[in-house]
Amino acid sequence: VNISNMLQTDNITMQFGGIRAVSNLSLNIKPNQIVGLIGPNGAGKTTAFNMITGVYKPTTGKITFNDHDITGLKPNKITELGIARTFQNIRLFSSMSVLENVMLSKHVRLKATPFEAILGLPRYTRTRKKHYEECMELLEQVQLADLADEKAISLPYGKQRRLEIARALATQPGMILLDEPAAGMNPQESLELMEFIAKIRDEFNLTVLMIEHHMEVVMGICEHILVLDHGETLAQGTPEEIQNNQKVIEAYLGAV
Ligand code: ATP
Repeated sequence: VNISNMLQTDNITMQFGGIRAVSNLSLNIKPNQIVGLIGPNGAGKTTAFNMITGVYKPTTGKITFNDHDITGLKPNKITELGIARTFQNIRLFSSMSVLENVMLSKHVRLKATPFEAILGLPRYTRTRKKHYEECMELLEQVQLADLADEKAISLPYGKQRRLEIARALATQPGMILLDEPAAGMNPQESLELMEFIAKIRDEFNLTVLMIEHHMEVVMGICEHILVLDHGETLAQGTPEEIQNNQKVIEAYLGAV
């Protein structure tokens, strides 16, 4: 293992019956990098996320995070080790408040905070207060504090996306996996999202792996890009290398 990598996948393959969704994917991601995973629909991008986060155990290959072999570990264990994710479709607790969404997520990581504390039972008042303060501080950092008591569902779309990221951040990850964070956003919202991702990378000392179809976002903030096509790695390199790669243009960029 190259210890300068934060996340390393060595030839991971995911076979579903007759379908090879991901074939021999080797990713090397350095601390604090923002890396893009792109490619046509069905290329295997979400399956790669599902292997990294423990939803699926790779059929073959090895995944190393911060020097730990995490291949096949359960999702909650991988969250504990410091990998958080968001989903392609927003998955918030829509009838709960913005603050409650973050508080529940933080609970998942920090077993020290009993569930009863979140519910506010009296003997946990002090724990609850600390938990509350930490979550409010996080909401300040992501500029959602003024909406803390609003129901998640009542937020404008762009802010729901940001809340999803905040909820992932509440688990105090070293690395965050974003599945199409700009999906459904207009150009202005995409621009704000790019600034937001760059800001949290710096402030939370994060490493970022993102799946994205909006090329202005991918080319604008990713330092390294990997292109998947039918589960195979078509190319990887800098945004400039990818934009000028004829195979990538033919298989994907020409169609975006
Ligand atoms: P999109 O951009 O549409 O989200 P993707 O690149 O994320 O696509 P995946 O969702 O990873 O692609 O799917 C890759 C392939 O694996 C597809 O052919 C899909 O049908 C198949 N696949 C994914 N999950 C499963 C599963 N649990 N069982 C069987 N096949 C699956």
